[in-house]
Amino acid sequence: MFYKEVLKKIKKEGKCPFCNLKKELIISENKYSYLTPAEAPYTKDHLLVIPKRHLIDLKDLKKKEKSAIFDLVIYVMKALKKKYAAIELEYKEGDMKIAGKSISHAHFHLLPKSRGNQVFSTNESKRRFLNKKEVIKEANKIKKW
Ligand SMILES: [Zn+2]
Repeated sequence: MFYKEVLKKIKKEGKCPFCNLKKELIISENKYSYLTPAEAPYTKDHLLVIPKRHLIDLKDLKKKEKSAIFDLVIYVMKALKKKYAAIELEYKEGDMKIAGKSISHAHFHLLPKSRGNQVFSTNESKRRFLNKKEVIKEANKIKKW
């Protein structure tokens, strides 16, 4: 399914997809955050670290949440560095359109990079969502790392 259609569907349903994350999509978690594969990946093995509580701005994070989130980010970066030359950490906040953000619930993108790691299209008309089966497969693959 293409990105825009999925976003329309999410809007119509009125449910935050990160607050309603399916158990089988969770690769790892701690008390305050989840690790999950990006459903519309920019690169291969594009992962997301998401605070469990619905919040839009980082300023609303409590101290214990900040600490848990960064513990998970650092843990994942370590794992990714075993396979990739570099990792880009991306975070977007503010005006959704200008930021290029599609889900308001705050989240961090972990983008593994190496020479030759394919970067998928970020062009919204071409950007594709993985289907449920593909995302579960991706989550299970990374669980084994
Ligand atoms: Zn949410």
